[in-house]
Amino acid sequence: MTGWLAIAGLGPGDARLVTPEVQATLDHATDLVGYAPYVARVPARPGVARHGSDNRVEVERARTALALAAEGRRVVVVSSGDPGVFAMASAVFEAVEAGPAAWAALDIRVLPGITAMLAAAASAGAPLGHDFCAINLSDNLKPWPLIETRLRLAVEADFAIALYNPRSRARPQGFARALALLTEACGADRAILFARAVSTPDERIEVVRLGAATPEMADMRTVVILGSSRTRLIARPGGRPFVYTPRSA
Ligand code: SAH
Repeated sequence: MTGWLAIAGLGPGDARLVTPEVQATLDHATDLVGYAPYVARVPARPGVARHGSDNRVEVERARTALALAAEGRRVVVVSSGDPGVFAMASAVFEAVEAGPAAWAALDIRVLPGITAMLAAAASAGAPLGHDFCAINLSDNLKPWPLIETRLRLAVEADFAIALYNPRSRARPQGFARALALLTEACGADRAILFARAVSTPDERIEVVRLGAATPEMADMRTVVILGSSRTRLIARPGGRPFVYTPRSA
C-alpha cells in the first residue's frame, strides 16, 4: 500500500468552514496526527488511529506522521485554521529536511484552510482590505525584542496588523507590552478588533479604539486585528460597527 501524508487545515471552528478537499482527505485517512484538541474536532471513524499530542512537540509529532506515511499509512496531520500559518506544515518540512532521504520522496501535500485572521476579518467587515501583515506574539520560538521590532516596523509601514497568539497563561505580560507600544506608535484613536473563538459557539467580537483596549480583551483563543491609519468604523444603530480598510492608500 502506498502511504501519503496530508497536512490539513480544519479552519477556525465551524464544520462548514472545513473545505471539501480537507473533508474528502479525512475520509480516506488511516491515521490522524495533531494537537489533541484539533484531533478531537474530527469525528471518530472506526479503523482510524488517532495520535493526539501535547502542544509543544511539533517536530516530534511531524516525525511520527512521516514515519507512519513511510510505513504505508494514509496520514492526515491536522492544524486549526490554515496549516501553513503558525502551524504544522513548517514543522513537517523541518522534519523532512533533517530526516532520512526517503522522507523527501513521500507523497506530501499541504491542504489549505481558512486562517483565523480571515474568519475574524470577515466577521467584522473588511479590515484587511488593503496591505496587511501577520505577527505571532508568542516568544516561544523567537526572542521578544524581535517581536517589538516587527511591530514598530509594521506600524511605520502602515500595515493593518493581525496578531496571532496574543496572550496565554504562560505569557501574561507580552500582550500588555505590545498594546502599550502600539498605542504609543499609533495613537489612541486607531481601530482594533478582538475576535475570540470565531465561528464557534463561544465567538465574541469586539471593535474598539486602541485607547480603550485592555490586555484582558485577548486570550489564547483570540486573534487581534489592529487597523492601519486608514481603517474606518461605520457606526450601526444598535449594533457593532463595521470596520473596514479602503482599498486605496
Ligand atoms: N494555524 C492557525 C493559527 C495557529 S496559532 C490558523 O491559521 O488560524 C493559534 C492562534 O490562532 C490563537 O492563539 C489565535 O490567535 C488564533 N486562532 C485560531 N483559531 C481561532 C479562532 N477560531 N478565533 C480566533 N482566533 C483563532
